[in-house]
Amino acid sequence: MTTASEPRHLKAKGLKRGVPRPAKALCSDCGLCDTHYIAYVKDACAFLHQQIAELEARAHSRRRDLDNEDELYFGVHQEMMAARKIEPIAGAQWTGIVSTIACQMLETGLVEGVVCVQNTPEDRFGPMPVIARTPEEVLAAKVNKPTLSPNLSILEQIAQSGMKRLLAIGVGCQIQALRAVEKELGLEKLYVLGTPCVDNVTRDGLQKFLETTSRSPETVVHYEFMQDFRVHFKHEDGSAETVPFFGLKTNKLKDVFAPSCMSCFDYVNSLADLVVGYMGAPFGWQWLVVRNDTGREMLNLVQDQIETQAVMSKGDRKAAVQQSIPAYDKGVTLPMWAAQLMGVVIERIGPKGLEYARFSIDSHFTRNYLYTQRNYPDKLAAHVPDFAQRIVEQYDLPE
Ligand SMILES: Cc1cc2nc3c(=O)[nH]c(=O)nc-3n(C[C@H](O)[C@H](O)[C@H](O)COP(=O)(O)OP(=O)(O)OC[C@H]3O[C@@H](n4cnc5c(N)ncnc54)[C@H](O)[C@@H]3O)c2cc1C
Repeated sequence: MTTASEPRHLKAKGLKRGVPRPAKALCSDCGLCDTHYIAYVKDACAFLHQQIAELEARAHSRRRDLDNEDELYFGVHQEMMAARKIEPIAGAQWTGIVSTIACQMLETGLVEGVVCVQNTPEDRFGPMPVIARTPEEVLAAKVNKPTLSPNLSILEQIAQSGMKRLLAIGVGCQIQALRAVEKELGLEKLYVLGTPCVDNVTRDGLQKFLETTSRSPETVVHYEFMQDFRVHFKHEDGSAETVPFFGLKTNKLKDVFAPSCMSCFDYVNSLADLVVGYMGAPFGWQWLVVRNDTGREMLNLVQDQIETQAVMSKGDRKAAVQQSIPAYDKGVTLPMWAAQLMGVVIERIGPKGLEYARFSIDSHFTRNYLYTQRNYPDKLAAHVPDFAQRIVEQYDLPE
């Protein structure tokens, strides 16, 4: 029995897997609707209620400064840097900074649990969200499961466990919903370690991507779109395979990305305390964005295990972005020899460091703006945050 004074969610019930979600085709399967926190979905879902600016002000105690180009693009921050682990974790997505911070937070008692994503026993890329309570359980979640993952499906377990201090690792849409329900979770302290995210796919979509792009889809254990304009695949036998971005079969892959990701403008995980990605760093390095004091506290725990360098920026992305807009729209695919050649040229003269990150943000925001305008015209005005609107306005878009 619930009483009138009890929180709304205690009267609600999560939906079974497979039942359509309130966001319908735009659902990113963040997991919120699997739990009784579905009671708040209309406000909390990133695709039903875009409120990045309000949540930024709450999480970081201020809004992003839209007149500062770094904040316009990368969100509220105190500092950015390039970093890598002195001793990388074998099998991590990059050098394992995310897993290392999470392990350290558990070991020092800063948190009692870590929301992260292991894989299902039968599928190395099948996401299985868990609350890890030991470093071993955190390490079992290393490496990207490059699919939509219902990380928030574990939210009910937090109250049940009695945990008061928690670290959540996740991508932008998961973190937006988490921030929106944060005060209902009964925690003393929530730490948020985010990764950037773009172009995510369902598990079926991932299979199609692998089959269309890799020479041996079944043996891929890891892949990443990297700063040298190539997709890097690693296979079970340790061999590497690279495919230039310009050689991707865009015509076949056009509908592979989830509709949620085609209409997402939170590439850089605006609401995390600390963001660990790669796109603003030189090739081989990770890119760190410290958004607030909580993020700094987390990073301080691993300072002696990483080497760092200042962020750099080189090149000019604008012409390349403008050309990519109609090329993507028409699904242009180059023959592989031309794609390889283009890859070599652009790697030499193309944007690097923060300019590469801006290239990637501009390309995705213009594409996603067009997608939203064409498929969800009634949502466009409210769904596109002010910072994204400003970024998109720099380019000429087709009708
Ligand atoms: C779907 C996806 C897309 C990404 N796209 C970009 C990008 O475009 N640009 C960029 O700079 N960085 C991107 N990243 C981040 C980047 O790939 C690395 O994850 C990040 O740099 C951390 O590397 P690491 O070696 O420190 O991580 P590790 O130590 O290997 O840890 C990886 C962590 O990611 C979590 N995780 C795995 N899969 C998922 C998932 N599906 N949803 C939520 N959390 C997950 C795990 O819980 C684990 O804790 C993306 C990450 C994901 C998950």
